[in-house]
Amino acid sequence: MSEQGKPVQGKLKVVINKPACCGYGVCAEICPEVYKLDGNGIVYVDDELVPEGLEDLAREGADACPQAALKLVPA
Ligand code: SF4
Repeated sequence: MSEQGKPVQGKLKVVINKPACCGYGVCAEICPEVYKLDGNGIVYVDDELVPEGLEDLAREGADACPQAALKLVPA
C-alpha cells in the first residue's frame, strides 16, 4: 500500500526569489500579514513561517505574483 500525495496539514515556509521580485506589491495587497514591502517595494517577510490560519491567503498571494517570485514549501 502506498501513501497518496495528500496535502500535508503542516506549516508552510515562504521562499522568496528576491531578484525576480519587481515590486508590484500584489502579494502584500492580498496577504499583508505575511508579505511586506521594503523601502524599494521589494518583498520580504518578518517570519518565513506562515502563521496558522493564513495558509490559504499566503498561497493566494504567492500565486498572484506576476513574477512567480514567491514559493510556499512545507516547513
Ligand atoms: S507580487 Fe511578486 S513581484 Fe510583486 S512584490 Fe510580491 S513578490 Fe514582488
